[in-house]
Amino acid sequence: MTSASAALQRRAWRLPMTTYAAVSNLKDALDRLAGGCATAGFSTDAAQPSINWVFLGPPGVGKGTYASRVAKAFGVPHIATGDLIRAEIKSGSSLGEQMKAVVNQGKLLPCAMVDQVLHDRLARGRQEGERGFILDGYPRTAAQAEQLLKTADIGLVLNLSLREEVLVQKCMGRRLCRHCGKNYNVADIHLPAGADGQPEIVMPPLSAPPECEPHLETRADDREEVIRHRLEVYKQESKPVEEAFRRAGLVVDFELVAGIPETLPRLMPLLESYIGRHANERA
Ligand SMILES: [Zn+2]
Repeated sequence: MTSASAALQRRAWRLPMTTYAAVSNLKDALDRLAGGCATAGFSTDAAQPSINWVFLGPPGVGKGTYASRVAKAFGVPHIATGDLIRAEIKSGSSLGEQMKAVVNQGKLLPCAMVDQVLHDRLARGRQEGERGFILDGYPRTAAQAEQLLKTADIGLVLNLSLREEVLVQKCMGRRLCRHCGKNYNVADIHLPAGADGQPEIVMPPLSAPPECEPHLETRADDREEVIRHRLEVYKQESKPVEEAFRRAGLVVDFELVAGIPETLPRLMPLLESYIGRHANERA
């Protein structure tokens, strides 16, 4: 981005940002921000078209890893809600303190708190001239999806999927090194193509080096019945979110049939074709 266009973007954002800071009611502030977006735009720099993407996918699909790799490749932040919440709590801000109190009671964080952390982060990114973002772990409800569509110029929602039996095997194969904290996967998956047109799936294990081997442990909740329950919950909760994005014509379904090294070369060209695309330019 040239310094002139960066300055232009800063100027363009000053009005909505000031409004945002001054208004305590979040929804009101977001509506105003959305109004500001119509003129300020997210991609004023033609040389750097925006990447405002959302990654969806069930637990175990590797969504966080794909989001992180793709974000790095395209030079945009990978914004994971879990990380934002942890950082906010660590910062000791008043919102962080409120969230800490909820978490310490073992309760789920109210949507309004998560929304605020997320939208503050997006607003800060725009102010600082970030090219966009890849969202991971947000939105979780249809209302959040609708709100996000109003406030951000989402160009693509990548919906990652993987055959359910593979998801279960992959989750059961997860291992954590107690010593260094690295994650590995001992599942060695090779499913032949199904008669009903399902593709062959080959996913070799991500083996631990010898120094980690003695320290590997399985997470207590990576048991088959727990995993199947998590997948069921995900299906129910993700459906309305997916539908909201499908109505906006933004969803691209991508079925994984191999590991990350084989998949990224297939995925990247597809994603590149969506750079700079807007919700109103449906494929
Ligand atoms: Zn280790």
